[in-house]
Amino acid sequence: MLPRHLYVHVPFCGRRCVYCDFSIAVRREVPVDEFAAAVGSELAIRQLSAAPIELDTLYLGGGTPSRLGGDGVAQLIDMIRDAVALAPGAEVTIEANPDDVTPAAAARWRAAGVNRLSLGAQSFDDAVLIWMHRTHDAEAIRCAVDAARQAGIDNLSLDLIFALPQQLGRSWEADLSRALELSPEHVSLYGLTIEPQTPLGRAHRRGQVVDAPDERYEREFLEAHDMLGAAGFEHYEVSNYGLASRHSRHNAAYWSGAAYLGVGPSAHGFDGDIRRWNRTAYADWLRALSARSDPIQGDETLTADNRSAEVVYLGLRTSRGVVLEESELAHVAPWIDAGWAVIDGSRRLVLTPRGWLRLDALSADLTAFRSRY
Ligand code: SF4
Repeated sequence: MLPRHLYVHVPFCGRRCVYCDFSIAVRREVPVDEFAAAVGSELAIRQLSAAPIELDTLYLGGGTPSRLGGDGVAQLIDMIRDAVALAPGAEVTIEANPDDVTPAAAARWRAAGVNRLSLGAQSFDDAVLIWMHRTHDAEAIRCAVDAARQAGIDNLSLDLIFALPQQLGRSWEADLSRALELSPEHVSLYGLTIEPQTPLGRAHRRGQVVDAPDERYEREFLEAHDMLGAAGFEHYEVSNYGLASRHSRHNAAYWSGAAYLGVGPSAHGFDGDIRRWNRTAYADWLRALSARSDPIQGDETLTADNRSAEVVYLGLRTSRGVVLEESELAHVAPWIDAGWAVIDGSRRLVLTPRGWLRLDALSADLTAFRSRY
């Protein structure tokens, strides 16, 4: 299958957030020319067939793609358009930190084809943002939304993090309300996880930070489901809420098992059979491309068991669900009784928000059950 989706990992960040274990390159000055040229080189390597690739979605993620600036993002998109075509109506998303979204930058991005902005808001509490080591404050979020709207970007997503340590005294309800006041079309929520190799992980080991108990994680997740649902958002994937027709088309492609290209350090790609991933460190990725070699670090061919597990996991994490066999109905009956799932008239099993809180365990259970028959 020819890919119709492209992810470009832009690794640059101004500094590392306290909880972040992503592959990033901390840079005061972003090497725009070097990076755009390297993306062009990798796209030339990834041209898998003589047939031209036409994209339904392009996603600039990171890292912080907005640190490329107005002209830098336009330069990168021009480089991408030299290698692949964008289909009419293609969704073009950029992830941005609020303090990078100036009126001039937003206008330049829009002119270059960006029509969706994913804003890393995380919280509207300035003390929390300082604790996170973010580079923006709450006022910068409002200014960024204004700038995006003025530039004509009418598809805007806000990222928020929940289940923060109790000691921060953060009001989750207040943050959700502040987010809704900005009238986004989409909201993504992530529960804080304390990764061992991060500054937060080290503080946790020293006993300076206590993670949120499971009850609060669940309470905040369900509170968000209720508040966003009341505001007209569809909870269409475990972490994602969108107004009708404003669901992320790019991420939906991942969850449907579609083929996609991934370029940039640590980026993953999938051709329908083989999943591949790039070298993680920016310098390693760049060195490979400078030597005209493929920056791939590894790949795996999906087995029948892998595929079966993915069908279950990808289906259950979305409101699309999974179609059951007749013989599976009795197995999941306790899930229905517990309020973790529902089954529609087409034998489609869909998890409820309470079920999504148990997504990994329920997916593993159904996968194991299927493997026995
Ligand atoms: S902006 Fe995002 S990618 Fe960069 S350090 Fe913070 S969390 Fe990590």
